[in-house]
Amino acid sequence: MTPQAAYPEPRLNARAAAGSMSPTMAAAAAISAHPDPVDLSVGEPAGPPPLEAREAAAAAAMEGRSRYGPVAGLARLRALVAQDLSRRDGVARAAEDILITAGGKPAIFDTLRCILEPGDEVLVFAPFWPTFKDQITWAGGVPVVVEPGPDLLPSPEAMGRAVTARTRAVIVNQPSNPSGQVWDALRIRRLAELALRHGLWVIVDQVYGTLALDGPEVPLLQTAPDLARQCVVVESFSKRFAMTGYRLGAAAGPRTLIKAMTTLGSTSVTHASTISQHAGIAAMELDGSWEAAMVEGLRARRDALLSGLRAIPDARVARPSGGLYLFPEVSHWMEKLGLATDVALAARLRDEAGVKVLPGSAFGAPGHLRLCFAGEVGRLRLAGERLQAFFKD
Ligand code: PMP
Repeated sequence: MTPQAAYPEPRLNARAAAGSMSPTMAAAAAISAHPDPVDLSVGEPAGPPPLEAREAAAAAAMEGRSRYGPVAGLARLRALVAQDLSRRDGVARAAEDILITAGGKPAIFDTLRCILEPGDEVLVFAPFWPTFKDQITWAGGVPVVVEPGPDLLPSPEAMGRAVTARTRAVIVNQPSNPSGQVWDALRIRRLAELALRHGLWVIVDQVYGTLALDGPEVPLLQTAPDLARQCVVVESFSKRFAMTGYRLGAAAGPRTLIKAMTTLGSTSVTHASTISQHAGIAAMELDGSWEAAMVEGLRARRDALLSGLRAIPDARVARPSGGLYLFPEVSHWMEKLGLATDVALAARLRDEAGVKVLPGSAFGAPGHLRLCFAGEVGRLRLAGERLQAFFKD
């Protein structure tokens, strides 16, 4: 018999061979040498989803509402999402404009898989959620990073310079993971002009949209309603209703795209879990007070961690107006400690201070750290004290 080694080995394709785990997930999985680290690395609200959502999931499982359903999602949930989004961003939508997905992640990925030809460019704005770049590459496209100004926002000129004949889409995420920022009207108008002139898709990732901590949410389409024709809005139940493990989200966009994404879904995941969709219906039928209480709690958590950080005399940290993260600039602390990278600083904080954070370089913004403030207030205070002690001398 010919030895097996003599035959060619089956190979992965080039993309899979080159792919790496999401850097945020890898850093979050790193074990701390500290006996009781405060984990500020994972972007996940503390506490359970609304009781009604949990009860609806249990009832769906127990009562047998757990069969295959429509690929685009349960009609009632699509209608509720359409209604909710229309109320928030002012664009009239029907159930047919909505695709229910297994989280925000696949909503973005399937959009990219339906719009990109090989080699097409997609603009992402640093600091960015790293998954954007990975998904673009997996979908056969080329991510083009637009570097920010000192305010961590892209200048209108930089946006214009980044557009080429190959540009097919842009991804805007606001409030931003990691910076918590929301673009001002001037930048949104500049983006709209470019997108309209060049026929670009605009993917608006607003999975943190309802977590507006200072004043009301301002969805991008409210400022640029003329983009609705070429805009895909990405929503998620993960952060809004603390339903990360339920894997439930939605995409809203032009019907031709929603139809194409539904066809794609029919050959891959089929649809989001029926049980989760029943939980989603219950969450969307709530009167808003659960969400209001959650946002109020988040505001207190943000302020607790922010004041802990600002008690370090030379801290450089902006107050985020939404989302779950603080994103301090720390290059001066790296210099003081003789550390060349924010990865090294995050490792020291993890092992010595007992605070797990993510390095800004994972988000295309070296010299920063990302701290999630969604945890318990007591743990956030403890994290603040530990960081103050670490940076004291
Ligand atoms: N977009 C951004 C900016 C995120 O931070 C996340 C989750 N970390 C998602 C989308 C996707 O979340 P999910 O798939 O859980 O809905």
